[in-house]
Amino acid sequence: MHKKLFIPGPVEVKPDVLAKMSTPMIGHRSKDASGLQKRISNKIRQVLYTEEEILLSTSSGSGLMEGAIRSCTMKKAAVFSIGAFGKRWYEMGLANNVATDMFEVPMGKPTPLEQVDEVLETNKYDLITITHNETSTGVMNPLEELAPVIAKYDDIIWCVDAVSSAGGSKIEVDKLGIDICITSTQKALGLPPGLAICTFSKKAIARASQVTNRGFYLDLLALYEYIQKRDYQYPSTPSLSHMFALDYQLDLILAEGLDNRFNRHIKMAELVRDWARNNFALFADENYLSNTLTAIENTRQIDLAKLNKELGERGYQISNGYGSLKDKTFRIAHMADCTIGEVEDLINNINDVLNL
Ligand SMILES: *Cc1c(COP(=O)(O)O)cnc(C)c1O
Repeated sequence: MHKKLFIPGPVEVKPDVLAKMSTPMIGHRSKDASGLQKRISNKIRQVLYTEEEILLSTSSGSGLMEGAIRSCTMKKAAVFSIGAFGKRWYEMGLANNVATDMFEVPMGKPTPLEQVDEVLETNKYDLITITHNETSTGVMNPLEELAPVIAKYDDIIWCVDAVSSAGGSKIEVDKLGIDICITSTQKALGLPPGLAICTFSKKAIARASQVTNRGFYLDLLALYEYIQKRDYQYPSTPSLSHMFALDYQLDLILAEGLDNRFNRHIKMAELVRDWARNNFALFADENYLSNTLTAIENTRQIDLAKLNKELGERGYQISNGYGSLKDKTFRIAHMADCTIGEVEDLINNINDVLNL
């Protein structure tokens, strides 16, 4: 039996979107391939509220995170980590020989504005990374509050990991002044894993053109230049299957209406939060709760593996905690095309299994 996924990626994919993955191939150097990439870029611009260029990468989201820190750091990168995915960006910096420092907070907390201000004031950094939605802790960082602090510093390339939020939560990239906003297909966009997407500002382009050792496959400037040179093509062979499905899914997302989509995510989140507050406790800071997934403290010390096994028999799958939080928390994702009714069904089933 197929288990309906309530894990923070990959998510359930609508059958018609999945079917688009088996569209017959076209040449990746054809006009049709250019048209496909161009349509995707135009629609992603709407979803992310930007006029800047859109880059695609045949990799998961981590690929563009690695590409961004390497392609756009000249002096030093400051990684603001609020959990496992923030830490990953630090490890990427180190592994790529990029001078990188990491600034952390206790798990469950957002990035403090004062911390960003203090770090940038040192004048040692020219790129920063912020995790918008930390999937390990269920914290959603306040981009609107961070934006004016970061805007005080001219020289900074602002990279945002929006892998588990873009398409499910409003991110006004240009208004916020984000230079590189990164996501991938298998989370709130509702597609299979395998393609990453980012915005690439003029400021980021100018910076990358001054960086000498940007790597090859994940060189953001190379992705950008190919778009210019070959009218929206990709330097190597992209996952055309994902592109067919993404082109189609973006039509569905825009037809739903972005505000409707974001509001649906908020409603699903509120449902899960209320249930969690009544029966367990929320792991993340109440003021910074994620709209796309909820991390729940396992206050009843339930056997999470057993719960998931029993849910599996009923056709559902949720997620245990991430890394060191494995047994201390569990996570319910409510993103992409998941409906309020489906979240209610899941909760009813958990109540039934746990006798709540
Ligand atoms: C899933 C996730 C990633 C990693 O993305 P991949 O597509 O698996 O490489 C990075 N950051 C966050 C916040 C995520 O949720």
